[in-house]
Amino acid sequence: MAKIDDYNFAGKKAIVRVDFNVPLDENGKVTDDTRIRGALPTLKKILADGGSLILMSHMGKPKGKVNPKFSLSQIREDVAKALGTDVKFVPDCANADEAVAELKPGEVLLLENLRFYPEEEGKPVGIDKEDPGYDAAKKEMKERQKKFAQKLASYADVYVNDAFGTAHRKHASTAVIADYFKPEDKMLGYLMEKEVKAVDNILKDIKRPFTAIMGGSKVSTKIGIIENLMDKVDNLILCGGMTYTFAKAQGGKIGDSIVENDKLDLALDIIKKAKEKGVNLILGTDCVAGDAFSNDCNTMVCLSNDIPDGWEGLDAGPETRKAFAEAIRPSKTILWNGPAGVFEFDNFTAGSRAIAEAIVEATKNGAFSLVGGGDSVACVNKFGLADSVSYVSTGGGALLEAIEGKVLPGVAAVKEA
Ligand code: AMP
Repeated sequence: MAKIDDYNFAGKKAIVRVDFNVPLDENGKVTDDTRIRGALPTLKKILADGGSLILMSHMGKPKGKVNPKFSLSQIREDVAKALGTDVKFVPDCANADEAVAELKPGEVLLLENLRFYPEEEGKPVGIDKEDPGYDAAKKEMKERQKKFAQKLASYADVYVNDAFGTAHRKHASTAVIADYFKPEDKMLGYLMEKEVKAVDNILKDIKRPFTAIMGGSKVSTKIGIIENLMDKVDNLILCGGMTYTFAKAQGGKIGDSIVENDKLDLALDIIKKAKEKGVNLILGTDCVAGDAFSNDCNTMVCLSNDIPDGWEGLDAGPETRKAFAEAIRPSKTILWNGPAGVFEFDNFTAGSRAIAEAIVEATKNGAFSLVGGGDSVACVNKFGLADSVSYVSTGGGALLEAIEGKVLPGVAAVKEA
């Protein structure tokens, strides 16, 4: 694998997998350009060296079909503005030979959404896993995926993967394409390098106490990482919607709060494992409950395990916020994924804000703090605290899988000779 800092892109055509899956409003205008800005160091280095750029990305889930709603043409101007140079656009990513041939050093070409082709994801279309022909269809699609990746590779002299957000997927543009480049002509971009280093800090260079804060709506989507962290952390804070699955599992009354009834045993198992491993498991004891799922519902503070019918827990209560902050403040390694309440509603941000502020304080006192996953990133952005933590990851699923200890296909593909 080459290193981007050591590579001279002069006169080379570089195909770069970026994550330009940015949110758009109903008029197709970009509402948050964080992901575009995240790729800039890599893109600017290539242009400054005298290389040319072929940018490829997915947007949304068009499921292998052309869908103007997910067209990357909508973000062309934003990319041009961010780069400070004109950006050409090719409306079919698998038919870009002409545009590529005309590309001169310093020029930029943006390919249309890779996921307009089912080959990008490599999943057979129109057939269920249970259907008899599924295995054959899968094999055929894998062959088509290789051809698609080879086509993309044929545009360029060098491949750079800077899309951490999709690094946990073995897609044509994130992994398979790397097979068609020599080891010295494929590499991670700056953003990917930073993300991989941040994960290493959390997994390999742990300064104690290590506190992980896992929030969000459900236990089921976070269980892999919770189990993995149990072997590493000193404090494990579980908050957000999963609070009520734990409260119910222990015999509590949770009113109309969000709950996963099929995960009650799992919750008890997590409590047991934490005890066995000597992990300080901190769950919310009180909450701010609302009488409807809306910002302006009536609210009251009550115990998380004694919520009346007609009410639902929507944020961490004052005692809980205090307990969370007390565990976080003296920590030296901190990982935060998932909000402590329905932070999208301004009246239910206090729990997430208390966590964010305690993390900022710990960071000032020398802790390494990593905030990752779309919603916790939205939280720190909302509170204006993104610059006051050590690292804000652009990856949701990719970050969680990396921290679970899984090898990310997008990283492995360029590392392998
Ligand atoms: P996740 O995608 O699992 O990380 O969950 C993030 C979502 O969890 C956010 O949209 C929050 O609004 C939501 N959330 C957090 N706390 C609660 C809660 N107590 N009840 C319902 N949703 C919640």
